[in-house]
Amino acid sequence: MSKPTESTSFRGKLSLGARLKALAKLEEGIKARREEIIAALAADLGKPEVEAFLAEYFFVLQEIRLVRRKLKKWLKPRKVKSPIWFWPCRSRVELDAYGRVLVISPWNYPIQLALAPVVSAVAAGNSVVLKPSEMTPTCSALLEEILSECFSSEVVKVVLGGKELAEELLEEDFDFIFFTGSTEVGRIVAEKAARKLTPTVLELGGKCPCLVDATADIQIAAKRILIGKFFNAGQTCFAPDFVAVEKSVHRELVDKMKVLLMELPWEEDLSRVINERHFDRVLGLVSGEEIRKGEDDRESLKMAPRILPEAGWDDAVMKEEVFGPLLPVVTFEKEEELLSRLREYGSPLALYLFSRDSRFIEKMKGELRSGSVAINDTMKQACSLELPFGGVGESGSGRYRGKKGVEAFCYERAVMKRYFVHDLFEMLPPREGMARFLKKWLPK
Ligand code: NAD
Repeated sequence: MSKPTESTSFRGKLSLGARLKALAKLEEGIKARREEIIAALAADLGKPEVEAFLAEYFFVLQEIRLVRRKLKKWLKPRKVKSPIWFWPCRSRVELDAYGRVLVISPWNYPIQLALAPVVSAVAAGNSVVLKPSEMTPTCSALLEEILSECFSSEVVKVVLGGKELAEELLEEDFDFIFFTGSTEVGRIVAEKAARKLTPTVLELGGKCPCLVDATADIQIAAKRILIGKFFNAGQTCFAPDFVAVEKSVHRELVDKMKVLLMELPWEEDLSRVINERHFDRVLGLVSGEEIRKGEDDRESLKMAPRILPEAGWDDAVMKEEVFGPLLPVVTFEKEEELLSRLREYGSPLALYLFSRDSRFIEKMKGELRSGSVAINDTMKQACSLELPFGGVGESGSGRYRGKKGVEAFCYERAVMKRYFVHDLFEMLPPREGMARFLKKWLPK
């Protein structure tokens, strides 16, 4: 047995009313700290205000509002039929909280990716230990402040620290683990959870391909790909990692992206790269011809956004998740070759398809697995609270957001009620006559 946790002691379930009250308090707490949230994101990541406001502050607020509005309905037990031979009988499925859950979150959207699972977990009736990323200390400290003001430490507790603390927490007894981060660390978390048979949701990374065929509107594709790629300086788990474009429109796409990159002030409004290690890593992936806007500054961790217009499938940049403001463009001619290349990347979080050809779209969608698919745009599929968010295979398992988020933090409990009246079919011995009867009358 591992040591009992010091982190939260609460194991009972908050009433629905108490949960809704706590979430209302959190909504107010976040609203009151709007400017501090935006400032913390600027301090840790140099996040542009519009990105901090939309992707971290507003998105979380929207989710809390949705959960508060719908929670009662979502948690309503679902009545189901009972087999006739058990009558009189009532059956239903209830959503029951796991109990005590651990949430480990990453640095790239440090507010949103910490708060969203906490909101779902509390709404479902769990108590939560949150370990935010050590790489964004201002945001993590602010999260601790906000959450300790809004929840008793028995319900939500923030613990600050890095890898060692995360490893210690994984030795504790939790009823559920929600991890967001790299595939590499996700594997470690899954192994440790498996030892205790603790269920998990794993929100991981990978290389999300963006495919453009000759039927696509190249101007619109160019614009939407760059917007998706350079949001948060490419440090989004579901950002288009690379573009694979049909050879006949390669030049046109590259020219259009070049015009957009050079004419608009992308470099003035771009997040920082998180640290020197990632800065050097991403720059190390640059090879061959590049289209660059502005200069790199290692001291301030500002990296110039760039496109690699002639990247090759075997280049280093195509071997790992880019996670930076760097867009490699490779080409394809035959669909089968494209598919066999793409299959090497396993199953990403997102697959982006720019095309007017429904046969092409269906073929790619049918042949490749991915957590989500967006057709003729990037990123938006992951910004809807009505669509489940999550990966498959190497990009993770489990879904959350909105209703799915609350469901993720519950297990389905089967409840059957019978009455003190005599059974129609009793299984008391001797049962030979019963076997004959069942063989005759039950469907063959
Ligand atoms: P990371 O895996 O390095 O760290 C994530 C969290 O895990 C941090 O809180 C960290 O302290 C903790 N951690 C580190 N080592 C650990 C260990 N041995 N055991 C347990 N926990 C440990 O990831 P990151 O660098 O913070 O984030 C970037 C990665 O996360 C990218 O690969 C990206 O694609 C992925 N990501 C995925 C999603 C998603 O929703 N699927 C969202 C954001 C980021």
